[in-house]
Order: sequence, then structure tokens, then C-alpha cells
Amino acid sequence: MPAMFRTILTSALLPLLSIGAQAQVWALHGTAVTPEGPVTGATVLIDGNTIRAVGQNVPLPSGTKLIETNGFIYPGLIDLHNHVTWNILPHWTSGTKSGARYDWQQLPEYRMALSLPHDRVVAEGHGCAAERYAEVKAMVGGATSQTGLGEDDLTLPGATTAPAKPPPNCLGSYIRELGVSSRLYPAGAAEPLNFEISPLAYDAAHTLALIESLQNHTLQASLIHIAEGSPTDASAAHEFGFLRARGMLVPGVSIIHGVALTSSNFAAMAKASVGLIWSPRSNFELYGATTNVASAKQAGVTIAIGPDWSPTGSDGMLQELKYAAIWNATQFPVAFTDRDLFQMATLNAANLAGIAAQTGSIVAGKRADLLVLKSDQSDPYNAFTHASPEQVALVVVDGTPQYGDTTLMRQVRPSGASAALNVCGVAKELAVPTKDAWSATQTELTTSLHRWGTTLAPLTECR
Ligand SMILES: [Zn+2]
Repeated sequence: MPAMFRTILTSALLPLLSIGAQAQVWALHGTAVTPEGPVTGATVLIDGNTIRAVGQNVPLPSGTKLIETNGFIYPGLIDLHNHVTWNILPHWTSGTKSGARYDWQQLPEYRMALSLPHDRVVAEGHGCAAERYAEVKAMVGGATSQTGLGEDDLTLPGATTAPAKPPPNCLGSYIRELGVSSRLYPAGAAEPLNFEISPLAYDAAHTLALIESLQNHTLQASLIHIAEGSPTDASAAHEFGFLRARGMLVPGVSIIHGVALTSSNFAAMAKASVGLIWSPRSNFELYGATTNVASAKQAGVTIAIGPDWSPTGSDGMLQELKYAAIWNATQFPVAFTDRDLFQMATLNAANLAGIAAQTGSIVAGKRADLLVLKSDQSDPYNAFTHASPEQVALVVVDGTPQYGDTTLMRQVRPSGASAALNVCGVAKELAVPTKDAWSATQTELTTSLHRWGTTLAPLTECR
């Protein structure tokens, strides 16, 4: 694998670095995976929440703490398909394959195992705890951004008709909650991303307003669930026609799932610059099939990947990527390269979410959202698509080290409250706002879930 040797530092940056608060400037050393390719022996210089430089021979301001990772440094992963607060619930199967999502959502087993406990835990006031737990679970899988927080997921006690305003530090305190609390826009600004589970249920006025918002760019992205079901299921297959008839094939829209879409549907999506968000494990578990992503790729559709949720999908992004890589290896010819899968989880996702100017790749000037993996593989893309959560050595969000191997965390963050985690036998450390915050979150959720006959899901399966 040829290494790139580009140093993306301009001399114009140096005076800025010397002015900045020294304690905010630090650097990671390892193999950095940049848009041009892997750079061995690279330094990633971080100043506050921003990547200031990446490359070999990066000059460091005096006093900069340089941390040797002995690993691969990737951009933080961007999950465009999740249902955040549901990830507190254990893995679930109905025992049979469904035709479309409308089928399993009607099952009493689904109601008892998932929707009732979820809704009661939230109604009892534990929505924020569920949200915090899910943010940590996402970091365990390498994510620094995710979507999928519903407006009812944080409803607090007494708020019977409308969601109450969540308290400070309720959401987005660990990772970016896109569309809600991403920290990518000025405080108080509306987030220009919308995530919808049932876009065909919009009335005409809502549909028109959505299209107008995308066309005048007050909204940058709308991620919508369409055609979730078996490829042979009529109701799932018909949804694309309904979407097109409503004029919703416009740039900025991305279709989540699309399992029942055809090659002509993908051609129409590519023509309209509509993206696709793929969730293979959940598709196979619920419907026994997944999206014809090879056809979508051939049509030129931009594809991202997301786990859906952990009850029927993967616990996080790395786990979903490994699932996708294993599925890919069963295809002849294979649909994707390892680098294609890496792109789906990083820059493709950033492009579909309208945040590529701020994150999604290791480039000077972007936010410092980073993932460090330890691996004995030589190819960073192959290491990436076959990694397990215990290999996550460090997750940096907006320039702040949030989670990682205990030894590395102690180097990059020598002081501050922390919680010890054991991830598949490896000691990890989580940066927390107060000493007991993590144990309190777990206890709160465990107690509530037990009342509704279930248990708190693990942060990850180990396999
Ligand atoms: Zn979904």
C-alpha cells in the first residue's frame, strides 16, 4: 500500500498556533487515513476543537504534547441511521421473517419486548439516561456523530402531550446528535437536518414545506425511511412510487433502507442526487434480505451505512461495518472494496448529512472528530472493516478525548473525572462530567427496565 507523503500545513497557520492557549494544542502520531490515502508516520495536530494540520514532518508549536498511538487514525464515524434511545434494550427477534416493517410492528411480542419497555422508561423520566447510555454505546463502536433521536424520546414526567425541553447535558454531551445537538452550528441555531421514520404520513402542506426548505437550503438534509421490507413485499416496493409522486426526490433527501428498491429506482435516485443509507444486519434479521447495494453503486447513488438500532441490528458502526464486510465477501463479484465501506461510514455520510465542510475526513480546518484503532493488520482499510470494539483505542469528539484505552486516555487526558469500562475484556476509560455519572446512568436504567420485565442491553456483543 503506497503511503502518501503530503504535509497539509501552511506557514500561515503557524502564527495562529503560537497565539492559541498552549494547553489546547496537542497531537496524535500514527498512520492517518486522509482523503488522499493513508499517511504513515503522520502527526495530526489538534488545536481546540479543530484539526490544524496533518501529515509527516508537521512542525509543532513548542510545548505541544505529542502522543504516540501506534495505531491507525481515522475520522470519527458518522451514523446516519439509528433510533438512539432504543439501544438500551436487549437484542430481539420475532422468530420469523417479516414482509415489511408494518408487520413486525403489529406483533404483540414486539410490543412486550421493545415498544412498551421503551415507552415506559421514557415516560418514567429516564429518556435522558437512555440517550446518554446510547451515546456511550455509539462511541464504543467508533461513532462521533449519530442521527435518530425522536422528538418523543426525551419526554419528561408530566409532559403528557408535548415533549418537555430537555435539561442541559441531556443530549449530545458525548457525541454529536445530528439534527438536535450537533455542536456544528451557533448556539440556538436550528439544525438543518431532519430525520423521519414515516415521511409518507406527512400531509400536503408539510411535504411542500419540506421540499421548499431543501430547495432554499434552510434544510441541508432529510433522511427518510422508505421501502423497508422484503424485496418481494408489495407495500414496501410501492413506497418509492408514492415518494416520487409527492415530489420528494430532490437533492438533500436520502432514503434509509430501500430494501425493496429496483435498479430503475436507483437510477432515478442518482439522477435526483438522492442518497441511500444501508443497514444490512437489521434488514437480514427482520426480512431475510438486504438492499441491492451493488445496483445502487452501479447507478451512482452515494451510499452511507448505519446500524438502524441494536435490538435487530448492530450495536455500533464498527460492528455494522464488519457485518457488511462479511456479507460483501459472500458476493460474487464483491460489491465493495474495504475503502468503499470506509467512505460510507465517513465522508459519504458527511456529504449526505450536509456536514462535509466540518467533519467526515482528516483535513486541516475541519473539526477534530477522530477514531484510533489498534490493529495487527497492515492495510488500514482492511483493519477498519474487520475491527472489533475492543480495538478502539481512542475516540475524540470536537477536539475532546471522550473514550478509549485506559493507558492512552491517561496520556491525552491526565486529569478529570472518568469511569472504568470493560469492553470484551479490555480496560477502557470514559470521560464523564462527574465521578459517579456513569454508574448512576446504568443504575437508573437497570431499575426502570426491570420493572418492565427486561434488562439493560450491553454496550456491545463480543464476537
Ligand atoms: Zn430506522
